[in-house]
Amino acid sequence: MALVIVRKATYNYPALRPVIFELMDMLGGGRIRSSTRVLIKPNLLAPAPPEKAVVTHPHVVRAVAEYVLEKGATAQISDSPAVGSFEKILKESGIRDALAGLPVLFREFDESVPVSINKPFEKVEIAADAVNSHVLINLPKLKTHTQMLLTLGVKNLFGCIVGLRKPEWHLRAGVDREMFARLLVKVCQAVKPSITIIDGILAMEGQGPGKGGTPRHAGVLLGSENPAAADMAVCRMLGIPADRLLTNKICMEQGLSPEDIRIDGDLPAVGDFRLPDITPVVFGPRLVHGFLRRHLVQRPECDESLCKLCSECWKYCPAQAITHRGTKIHFDYDRCIRCYCCIEVCPHGALSARETVTGKVSRKLLRL
Ligand code: SF4
Ligand code: SF4
Repeated sequence: MALVIVRKATYNYPALRPVIFELMDMLGGGRIRSSTRVLIKPNLLAPAPPEKAVVTHPHVVRAVAEYVLEKGATAQISDSPAVGSFEKILKESGIRDALAGLPVLFREFDESVPVSINKPFEKVEIAADAVNSHVLINLPKLKTHTQMLLTLGVKNLFGCIVGLRKPEWHLRAGVDREMFARLLVKVCQAVKPSITIIDGILAMEGQGPGKGGTPRHAGVLLGSENPAAADMAVCRMLGIPADRLLTNKICMEQGLSPEDIRIDGDLPAVGDFRLPDITPVVFGPRLVHGFLRRHLVQRPECDESLCKLCSECWKYCPAQAITHRGTKIHFDYDRCIRCYCCIEVCPHGALSARETVTGKVSRKLLRL
């Protein structure tokens, strides 16, 4: 049973600060001491003012930073934004101004360290500052997400993957959302946030998580030491089954989420929250997804004149779908998950994604 604390709140700073302090105390903030290196990870997706609900509200970030500083610890605020520069986001979001005068270090994630996350990903490069912090405070924004339904506590930690590695993984999400959810869960496990506080005071509904979404007042903060538990509470609040959020589903399958959550406070019912339209990558009944992927989605192919049999592709392939026989490599397209990692890692440009004949014909028919 995991505890999720829910508190009604507004962004009025004198009223918000004691609420955040209470949450921090209840969520083990007492372990923060003068020698603790604390990393605060808000959602800094893109430059946007607070009223657009794209980033974690500056007052939430400030209250958490003040709590950390009052404990005598060092506070660092970091993220690796998907769109726009880190500095621009700090300015447009109002975080720079809100924290002016506080001895806080603002630093964009840059250096990564390889972290072993086992199969099928093996290793993922995660921001060194996140991995090496003593306490990581995860401050997601409650938003919709057109690929993953919602972006909450577990998903927010994807920002700990630095720079260009992120779109690589997003690309793979387009192929297999469940695979992407698995990665998100692995990253969350690797980063091990100590405290998660979801900013759901001004949430986002519709076609989030960027400016395509619509701000929606929900008036709550949800805190937990377990990010998956906080995410489950949000699903309950929105009236959707917990496992509809794929990261929850993966956590449940792998025994990583609590069997149940205990809510401290009043969880409002937000039944008319507009979820995003998620464009299916594959369509039709689940039973035929494998067939559709095999026959309609572009597949990796090798230009044998360029291949040097260097082994990079078959060593990297997460599905172990590549073998080599004699002077040729061979793809097992039934196993291949179309992640295109092999194309990225081939040092000789021998691999590319090619449309299948069935795919070409189907697309022409659809256009007609
Ligand atoms: S990585 Fe490229 S060059 Fe190396 S074996 Fe694979 S296809 Fe051939
Ligand atoms: S063969 Fe290439 S695209 Fe297919 S699973 Fe392996 S790495 Fe991914």
